[in-house]
Amino acid sequence: MKILVSGAGAAGLCAGIDLARAGHAVEIVERANHLRVNGSPIDVRGDALETAEQMGILDAVRERRITMTERTTFVDRSGAAVASLAMQEINESSDDIELPREDLMIILRDALPEQVDLRFEESIAALVDDGGRVAVTFASGREATYDIVIGADGVHSAVRRLVFGPEEEFSEPLGVYVAIADAPGEATPGDTRATEILNLPGRFAGVARYRDEALAIFEFRSDSIDHDHRDLAAQKRVLAEAFAGIEDWKVPELIEAAQRDPELYFDAIAQIHLPTWHRGRVVLIGDAAHCATPMAGRGTSLALLGAWTLAEELGRHDDVESAFSAYEQRQRPHAAAAQEFARGGADLVVPATWDAIEARNTRLRAAQL
Ligand SMILES: Cc1cc2nc3c(=O)[nH]c(=O)nc-3n(C[C@H](O)[C@H](O)[C@H](O)COP(=O)(O)OP(=O)(O)OC[C@H]3O[C@@H](n4cnc5c(N)ncnc54)[C@H](O)[C@@H]3O)c2cc1C
Repeated sequence: MKILVSGAGAAGLCAGIDLARAGHAVEIVERANHLRVNGSPIDVRGDALETAEQMGILDAVRERRITMTERTTFVDRSGAAVASLAMQEINESSDDIELPREDLMIILRDALPEQVDLRFEESIAALVDDGGRVAVTFASGREATYDIVIGADGVHSAVRRLVFGPEEEFSEPLGVYVAIADAPGEATPGDTRATEILNLPGRFAGVARYRDEALAIFEFRSDSIDHDHRDLAAQKRVLAEAFAGIEDWKVPELIEAAQRDPELYFDAIAQIHLPTWHRGRVVLIGDAAHCATPMAGRGTSLALLGAWTLAEELGRHDDVESAFSAYEQRQRPHAAAAQEFARGGADLVVPATWDAIEARNTRLRAAQL
């Protein structure tokens, strides 16, 4: 088959690898002009470990493994530790592999079979599915037809909007925004300090360190903020406003680092729920189908698993509809579990009031007695 994949994130690259190896002609279009490798380290865990093995990338993933920290330390406004959270409470098992998002993206890109046509600065502008083929018009003006189209274009998926409807119909904001930026000033070679987080009511600012790198991480509670999610300057403005006037600990320096980062990752934390992930010859995978949010810590594993499952079912069925249904049936329980897991995340990491922060800290201290 001739297959178009929209989006070169974890889901799109995996689909490209698995489907090209199965003998399909795959084209991937990515809206950005480069592979988007920034963000915080991610985990390959659960069933995705087996997927990585079947894809032949598990050894490479293991080689890039990092140990972020065994504990996240919560600090007070002066930086003194007040409580900590053992990461084993979040991890599924000690087999989980954490690695920089950048490293995984490069491993996946390098594993793409040569015949995959990966095009940057290209995106789908319109598509028409006549039941037999999908005719696509691209933003560049190019036109082409495909046997199937896969939407792997993330939480703000264009394929989902064009085929299923506007994002608001499927998006469930959890009332929290997240930002992640490089914080080179915090990186000191050999620094083994744990991830540190300062909570203020409805907000946190923190530092995460791995290898010789450091990231500034922020979350804050807010109703939906009206801004263009692709406008970096607007994102930086919203972030600065959320922490304006806070002089505690390292907050001003961390905000300053975020303002300088040309690749700041900023988004509303929102889950995606759709009654079905496929229509005709179009199917969604990864965050486009079932974003569980960074609070689940499972988005990338779900992306690998979903892409693999889809390729496997396309190999088992002669008709596309049955393959898409079988993929969806197998992937749904994994997505639902991750989405459920993420729901408690905000109360744990961004308590809304001083009382709630103190109660969380007291609970964590008691758990370690
Ligand atoms: C830059 C970036 C940083 C991230 N950082 C973190 C993090 O720190 N922590 C975390 O938990 N999760 C992070 N995520 C989300 C995480 O990558 C996903 O939850 C997970 O890997 C599932 O991947 P995905 O491929 O479904 O979606 P994504 O990783 O979001 O990939 C989607 C891809 O599609 C591209 N795209 C979007 N719209 C279009 C379009 N219209 N046409 C073509 N291409 C399009 C995007 O540029 C992106 O490359 C980040 C995502 C991105 C894009």
